[in-house]
Amino acid sequence: MSARILDGKALAARIQAELADEVVEFIANNTTEPTLVAVLVGEDPASEVYVRSKRKACELVGMESRLQRLPADVTQDELLRIIGRLNKDDEVHGILIQLPLPPQIDATRVLHAVSPHKDVDGFHPENVGRLVQGRPRFVPCTPRGIQELLRREGIETAGRHVVVVGRSDIVGKPLANMLIQRGPGGDATVTLCHSRTPNLAQFTKQADILVAAIGRPKFITADMVKPGAVVIDVGINRTDAGLVGDVDFDSVREVAGAITPVPGGIGPLTITMLLANTLLAAREATA
Ligand code: NDP
Repeated sequence: MSARILDGKALAARIQAELADEVVEFIANNTTEPTLVAVLVGEDPASEVYVRSKRKACELVGMESRLQRLPADVTQDELLRIIGRLNKDDEVHGILIQLPLPPQIDATRVLHAVSPHKDVDGFHPENVGRLVQGRPRFVPCTPRGIQELLRREGIETAGRHVVVVGRSDIVGKPLANMLIQRGPGGDATVTLCHSRTPNLAQFTKQADILVAAIGRPKFITADMVKPGAVVIDVGINRTDAGLVGDVDFDSVREVAGAITPVPGGIGPLTITMLLANTLLAAREATA
């Protein structure tokens, strides 16, 4: 039997419509509109595409989006100075540093320079620490999108075994931390796998919910999936055949109970959660 398709694109549109209403209300009650600044260094084509779609999404829900474009040879000091200025600007609620940054820049230092109150990507150590302690402020957008999808699709996490493949700071690590928290959207038993995990399939086959955040096209095949499992494909891989996920969609959909497509799965939800975080930042700034 073919799996239920978890349509992230349609869900993202519904959440964005809700956010648009909340933005109207926010603007009516405040003298300012929620504002996101995207800092884009250099001319990486993929980064250009991502920033453009994030800005477009902002505008769709009625938020202001600004672009701070910098040349590829910008110095670290200059970049830090600009972030310092954005941190102090009361009209700016969220700051997004588009990754990757050029090699002369220490990305960690730059991400840590963003005020934790404007850190809508949730990468600042203060926000990471809060998440781990179960007192979240800004939660990274991709894991937040996954949790929101599970919640809104009625997929219970409590007591389920979630296997996450990939331990990046952006996806795997924060997601695992979120799913082990007490309460709604959490209470899962989580196994976090990575490239040093021997016999990966032995773990993935135990998953009630399997999350692939690996960056390898069609890596998860049908024989690695328990029949009826929920499969969340985070991967975005550019191949000659177009964009493909980390999951071999055509074979896995015959085994899984539910599955996200690529594109149209987690990607649109990630962008939507950036908007939600920006609105949260604006609310905190004006509270
Ligand atoms: P990273 O490259 O930072 O992390 C990849 C992870 O996969 C690492 O932990 C790595 O292990 C693990 N891995 C690599 N090879 C294997 C293997 N053979 N077996 C088991 N684990 C393996 O990637 P990201 O987390 O940033 O991104 C993952 C994918 O998700 C990419 O395709 C990216 O484009 C996509 N992505 C999509 C987003 C969206 O909005 N949908 C947002 C962010 C990312 P180790 O740590 O040992 O190296």
